[in-house]
Amino acid sequence: MKNILEAIQNGADSATFAALEIPATYRAAVVLKSEQEMFAGVASANKDPRKSVHIQEVATPEIAPDEVLIAVMASSINFNTVWTSIFEPISTFGALTRLARESSWAKRHDLDYHVMGSDASGVVLRVGSAVRNWKPGDKITVHCNHVDDQDPTSHNDSMLGSNQRIWGYETNFGGLADLSVVKANQLMPKPAHLSWEEAAVNALCNSTSYRMLVSKNGANMKQGDVVLIWGASGGIGAYALQYVLNGGGIPVGVVSSPEKAQILREMGCEAVIDRKAANYKFWNDDNTHNEKEWRRFGGDIRALVGEDPDIVFEHPGRSTFAASMYVVKRGGIVATCAATSGYMLEFDNRHFWMRLKRLIGSHFANYREAWEANRLIQKGMIHPVMSQVFMLDQTGEAAYQVHNNMHEGKIGVLCLAPREGMGIDDPALRAKVGEENINRFRRK
Ligand code: NAP
Repeated sequence: MKNILEAIQNGADSATFAALEIPATYRAAVVLKSEQEMFAGVASANKDPRKSVHIQEVATPEIAPDEVLIAVMASSINFNTVWTSIFEPISTFGALTRLARESSWAKRHDLDYHVMGSDASGVVLRVGSAVRNWKPGDKITVHCNHVDDQDPTSHNDSMLGSNQRIWGYETNFGGLADLSVVKANQLMPKPAHLSWEEAAVNALCNSTSYRMLVSKNGANMKQGDVVLIWGASGGIGAYALQYVLNGGGIPVGVVSSPEKAQILREMGCEAVIDRKAANYKFWNDDNTHNEKEWRRFGGDIRALVGEDPDIVFEHPGRSTFAASMYVVKRGGIVATCAATSGYMLEFDNRHFWMRLKRLIGSHFANYREAWEANRLIQKGMIHPVMSQVFMLDQTGEAAYQVHNNMHEGKIGVLCLAPREGMGIDDPALRAKVGEENINRFRRK
């Protein structure tokens, strides 16, 4: 591993990278099959990733013809890392077993450990025999759409592929490790003005928000649209807010503290709702909604921007979904990609059909969408939203913080990179983009 890191730090050429010896094992953040029942009977809020996430050496897998082996300089915590580490709503070992049935190469994934992580920045070390567009030494970021390109359903929109999976969540060999195996069609160029950790935090959340809001597969936002963004300083919300501002929309950002509200204002979001201060009670109890509170919430939005939202960027799920469906404008769109607070959703269908609203389910992004979202990062038009950086051996603590909503934006994780701030290749672009934009979310 030392030779690999030295080659990266010295800017070695492709031939040098191709000749590097690949270690037989590598360091990885894993959960264990033998522990998948460890939280049985424990309330979701009390399931602690610090107990389930382990750092251990794992065997380096052989790569298939369409895959590459990468040295991971940095990765990030996504909410799916939280789901994997608390074995909710299901253990991810089932997904690995199902994947293993597909081919002899896929069998590699079915192990008694699961290397987590669905983001990475790093350097290509080896390419499979069928890889054309990438070579050892290329600096890359990775998007997490793991596509079966022999499935005909993948060839319109690859997110519709029946075998579509999320790398590092429904596959093994994820990004929270010193090495990782990905398909060549997951690679994207590393933004040259960013450090390894700044480059690593974007792909999953940024691409998800791009598809939900900008893509024709999502809400296809236009200039002047009012967009209500739940969790507007969280992982996906903070990119969503940037897309609304860049695209000439009018954002209404919802957060839960004055500090988070301040970040939004600094980003240029004028209409901010602190949901904690407003103390909305959308549910009277576990079974009864409080329609009066939906109306109060809608009134607060109108008071801020003078009209109802054209689009609601929805992901908290059960706690907010009925309110989102209620407040969205006649003919408007609720786009949802998640249900953090519970996935059994209820809403009043009368308001939905009588006001001709639409609901769009959205999940990650296809390669084209992820590439476009990465291109905007490369150009300095969308910025990383990283608040903190942890070392790989602190992955459990980092996942714990995301699970308990103790963070803002994204948490970066250093893997092979020994310290922060390395890997910036275009300081002139960085200066033009501005440290204040790149570091907006950094904790002081
Ligand atoms: P995150 O960084 O934790 O941010 C989520 C934000 O949502 C929090 O900052 C919080 O903001 C807000 N929130 C949480 N619970 C809430 C509740 N009960 N009511 C209102 N707001 C609430 O997570 P993320 O990375 O943005 O991901 C959010 C969800 O999307 C997760 O469930 C994740 O699994 C999912 N996701 C799905 C995809 C996909 O492709 N389908 C991709 C990425 C993420 P405040 O406390 O400030 O309001």
